[in-house]
Amino acid sequence: MPRDRKRVDVLVLGAGAAGLAAARDLSHAGLRVTVIEARPRVGGRVLTLHDPRAPIPLELGAEFIHGASAATLPLAQAAGLAVLELPDTHELAAAGRLTPMGGFWELADRMNRDLARRLAARGKDFPVSEYLDSARVPAARRGLLRDFVQGFYAAHPDRLSAQSLAVETEGGDEADEVQGKQFRIANGGDALMKWLRDGLDPDRTQVRLSTVAESVEWKRGAVSVACRGSDRAPLPTLRARTALITVPLAVLKAGAVRFDPALPAKQRALAGIETGQVFKIVLRFREAFWEKPEFLKERRPQAGSNGGGLAFLHAHGAEVPTWWTSLPVRSPVLTGYVGAVAAEQLLAEEPPSRLERSLVALSEVLAVPRRDLEQQLDASASHDWRADPFARGAYSYIGVGGNNAPRALARPVEGTLFFAGEATDGAQIGTVAGALSSGRRAAREVLRVLK
Ligand SMILES: Cc1cc2nc3c(=O)[nH]c(=O)nc-3n(C[C@H](O)[C@H](O)[C@H](O)COP(=O)(O)OP(=O)(O)OC[C@H]3O[C@@H](n4cnc5c(N)ncnc54)[C@H](O)[C@@H]3O)c2cc1C
Repeated sequence: MPRDRKRVDVLVLGAGAAGLAAARDLSHAGLRVTVIEARPRVGGRVLTLHDPRAPIPLELGAEFIHGASAATLPLAQAAGLAVLELPDTHELAAAGRLTPMGGFWELADRMNRDLARRLAARGKDFPVSEYLDSARVPAARRGLLRDFVQGFYAAHPDRLSAQSLAVETEGGDEADEVQGKQFRIANGGDALMKWLRDGLDPDRTQVRLSTVAESVEWKRGAVSVACRGSDRAPLPTLRARTALITVPLAVLKAGAVRFDPALPAKQRALAGIETGQVFKIVLRFREAFWEKPEFLKERRPQAGSNGGGLAFLHAHGAEVPTWWTSLPVRSPVLTGYVGAVAAEQLLAEEPPSRLERSLVALSEVLAVPRRDLEQQLDASASHDWRADPFARGAYSYIGVGGNNAPRALARPVEGTLFFAGEATDGAQIGTVAGALSSGRRAAREVLRVLK
């Protein structure tokens, strides 16, 4: 029988970190691949703004490479990209003073070890809030940990699985991620996404942008995906022997991509994983006033002249409690970050009110009158990931009792449907590293069937 020229080997749904990493490995292994991407660009939740008036690339999505052993760093190095190591300087901002927070990551690490102990005693998963509310956690630590859980994991403490964090301390890579160094790609995270895309074998791969997958009809060894354009006009149905689904968890949960026949086991897996929300805002000022010696001297009376520049600031109680500068690169840019409950409240506001409330929070953190901040502000940028139909949230975390859910979501179906994306990587859930590893894992699974 003549080979169906239209039917490729693999349809990859989504051109984020997971989809691109998978498509690269699959095309290099000799398979014919079509990548279907709803947006007019690749990269998904890696979204870098290159504003000619900004001295640095502005990251509206993923920004940090956590931990020297994660998948992202070696890949960025293989891509020949400049990678900056960030100063691990965290300060507590309160009442106009900045106090060094020695052992910021150890704080979280200690919590994870406590969680592991309680888990061993209990023998069953429980929400992290139970630990945070317990009398044995000192009050001063409790607020910071609550902010950390909501900020770093974008998680509601009463839904976040204690087991998912306790496992981290025992596991190798995750321990590195929490305790290890942090990096940023100097030219912006999109440079890595572009490198992945440029590395696809052009003879065997097609990337269809502005193509929204609506439904996946499948039987063993045959898949057809109905698509529409960004103008909603229907596009020709695409066919392949297999499909690799990398669209975000929240897109799957919303049923925005339908499966026929339906996948009840996947529905159960989806229920075990939660979508975290984040509000991130990048503010560009006329000058980096926080670098001035008199500014620092007033706020760090103990530090003398050798305190170094500001890197990460944490202010428990502020509506946007975490802020960072672009160090080691000096620039007039500050980024504010908050997750979970407070993020959801901010995202419920209109954008001007989000900016206004961010300035109020920053004014509290830096002890600078809000009006002065407003006068100094040149521009701001933010992306609403919750309202974005192709993300519907920031990143995933494991819900109470859901520790097996990422593995269940990742499990291939009848050698025909394969799954990747950050939510399928239990150990590195919620990260670019997790997305990349999951894409490569899924590519190996496809190759075992098709090669
Ligand atoms: C504000 C924010 C900050 C973050 N900070 C960090 C950080 O510092 N470090 C870190 O490691 N991670 C961070 N993350 C998480 C990181 O961005 C993600 O974990 C990672 O990028 C997910 O990659 P992915 O390939 O799994 O999903 P995505 O990047 O979301 O890729 C999925 C793709 O599927 C496409 N798609 C969706 N629906 C359809 C459809 N119907 N048809 C076709 N295509 C579709 C989407 O457009 C997207 O391109 C952050 C995320 C956010 C939002």
